[in-house]
Amino acid sequence: MSKNGMATKIHTRIRTDPFTATYELVAKELGRGKFAVVKKCIDKATGKQYAAKFLRKRRKGEDCRMDVFNEIAVLESAKSNPYVVALHEVYETNTEIILVLECAAGGEIFNQCVADNDEAFTEKDVIRLARQILTGVAFLHRNNVVHLDLKPQNILLTSARPLGDIRIVDFGLSRHMDSITEVREILGTPEYVAPEILNYEPISTATDMWSIGVLTYVMLTGESPFLGDNKQETFLNISQVNVDYSQDTFEGISSLAIDFIKSLLVKNPRKRATAEECLDHPWLNLLPHPHSHPHLHSTSASSLDEPETSQSESEPESPA
Ligand code: ADP
Ligand code: MG
Repeated sequence: MSKNGMATKIHTRIRTDPFTATYELVAKELGRGKFAVVKKCIDKATGKQYAAKFLRKRRKGEDCRMDVFNEIAVLESAKSNPYVVALHEVYETNTEIILVLECAAGGEIFNQCVADNDEAFTEKDVIRLARQILTGVAFLHRNNVVHLDLKPQNILLTSARPLGDIRIVDFGLSRHMDSITEVREILGTPEYVAPEILNYEPISTATDMWSIGVLTYVMLTGESPFLGDNKQETFLNISQVNVDYSQDTFEGISSLAIDFIKSLLVKNPRKRATAEECLDHPWLNLLPHPHSHPHLHSTSASSLDEPETSQSESEPESPA
């Protein structure tokens, strides 16, 4: 373990033979961030599709190889969790490191968060997806890993229609918690960062839980709870926990959902719900669990079985 909670010891063999000897690049870009381009590629031998993340080793004149190794180490540590994107192979060239990742063909949940009616998530969808995100994040937290950049652009879907399962990506800011001393340089996307990050206070697994609160809010309402007209306004909204929970914004959404979000958008990180606590929240246990043993709750889920076309106007908690 090195400084700043970066894990840099990796087990994956780094290939230095030409990437294009094994993979055919598909022209279409899957996405891009500050220092990375992600492209679809096909293993020529098997025909299987992957997502190749090309990471520059030098950024702003600095050697960032260890940052990439940290990202690889975190992916390795989460190999057994289905909701964290799988790392298949790693290549290194003179200028780049290429992560060959499982391809999440459904794209970012961001697209459905901002979509209009028939493409937008229903509350039922959000319950299922939130459970998956929390299962993945609970796994990371049990292993003392904080993601620190949970937002709709970093939560992908295996398929968009029909709505598939989630994959958490982008561990570029992730840290091992044992030895974090300095967070000043780790700033995620303004809209999603927790108050303690803005105040340069210690970060913890609770920092991710704040982001999950914001994420859930956005998935349900299509609105970003803290977004202001400029950065200063956004930061002020965050530090004052200025959130709109009005009937207007949450039309047709159950009060359990609001209660769930309120357990996360709490200024004091120690008072925020943990991932495990969230998984036990009644809102996420309204519907039967698809694979595991259900946490059987007596609450009727029927209010969430709305017609596909419109949001129910009825009181969410009342039996149908
Ligand atoms: P950055 O660190 O630059 O933000 P990300 O890992 O978030 O890089 O990748 C950038 C974008 O590329 C993502 O937001 C997503 O749209 C796309 N992407 C990343 N990984 C995958 C993947 N495994 N499958 C499909 N698309 C991906
Ligand atoms: Mg990203």
